[in-house]
Amino acid sequence: DSVFAHVVQAPEDPILGVTVAYNKDPSPNKLNLGVGAYRTEEGKPLVLNVVRRAEQQLVNDRSRVKEYLPIIGLAEFNKLSAKLIFGAESPAILENRVTTVQCLSGTGSLRVGAEFLARHYHERTIYIPVPTWGNHPKVFTLGGLSVKTYRYYDPATRGLNFQGLLEDLGSAPSGAIVLLHACAHNPTGVDPTLEQWEQIRQLMRSKGLLPFFDSAYQGFASGRLDADAQSIRMFVADGGECLVAQSYAKNMGLYGERVGAFSIVCKSADVARRVESQLKLVIRPMYSNPPIHGASIVATILRDRDMYNEWTVELKAMADRIISMRHELFDALRARGTPGDWSHIIKQIGMFTFTGLNSEQVAFMTKEYHIYMTSDGRISMAGLSSRTVPHLADAIHAAVT
Ligand code: PLP
Repeated sequence: DSVFAHVVQAPEDPILGVTVAYNKDPSPNKLNLGVGAYRTEEGKPLVLNVVRRAEQQLVNDRSRVKEYLPIIGLAEFNKLSAKLIFGAESPAILENRVTTVQCLSGTGSLRVGAEFLARHYHERTIYIPVPTWGNHPKVFTLGGLSVKTYRYYDPATRGLNFQGLLEDLGSAPSGAIVLLHACAHNPTGVDPTLEQWEQIRQLMRSKGLLPFFDSAYQGFASGRLDADAQSIRMFVADGGECLVAQSYAKNMGLYGERVGAFSIVCKSADVARRVESQLKLVIRPMYSNPPIHGASIVATILRDRDMYNEWTVELKAMADRIISMRHELFDALRARGTPGDWSHIIKQIGMFTFTGLNSEQVAFMTKEYHIYMTSDGRISMAGLSSRTVPHLADAIHAAVT
């Protein structure tokens, strides 16, 4: 008998499992709105033209070799990533108070951050919003932190529960870590306004709470890279410390390349140097050093003015297509006279709409209409097209009437 005979079958991942179920469905009308990956109007994955150009340039450069990167990755990539998220003129960068290390996309950045905090920070509790990306609690728990929650979403208004958020952060123990979605909150698509961010900042700084930003959608929310980094920049401008996990999965379409960056903004260059030395000790026994290809693509694009500009145009086109899908879906439901207020579809931001559909309604839509989505009612707007909006609107209409 196998020494692993006692191993029980694990459930599918709640998000990636949606695609597994979708792939098994033989229906020609099936629609996958589960996973957060951009699709073209034709429903196809998209490789940005600027990424193809960068890859061509890399292939043609015969001086490139396949040596290991340093433990913290490609130095130029790290520098350019910090500039992208904090702004080229950021005083924290100019004062060398930021350490940035290349990590395995957003997830790997969060995980490295968690382990660093568990080893070197005095308060092990991290507060995450309810709801949040399903992987957050697992990543932080396995990274050695203890997870608590703060109120974020109000199902009644399908908007922010700002009062609840302030109360919960207000009663968190001083020093606690707080996970904040920099923009395009996943799964709700609900972000604080700049005025609300300012209040959150004041409260957190007055209580000594440590901000840990998850930036998985810079440029994807509004189509503008600077606007989507505003929340983070407010917390850096006050001179205080914070952590940032950055992903290039969505905004450069580099999902499978696993390219991201983790930064810690410190009070002084001296602290930043020592922090970086300890980040190496976290990374080395975990995966030794990060992969070279994705980071080289990103550095090639970010260092070149022309390629950078082309990227911003392609990024805005993706964001705009998602926004137009919001309008088309909203209009389609209105045209059908579907009961309920669906204005949250056009108010919410980023890749997802948190529809408010419950798990029975979702199950009905999957069974009767072959539409796949997470059971919390989250749909990926990036998976929709003008061709498929009517089918989705029919399904939602049938599910709620
Ligand atoms: N954080 C949030 C909020 C996300 O939605 C995602 C991806 O869906 C990630 C982090 C991590 O993505 P990746 O590891 O592919 O960069």
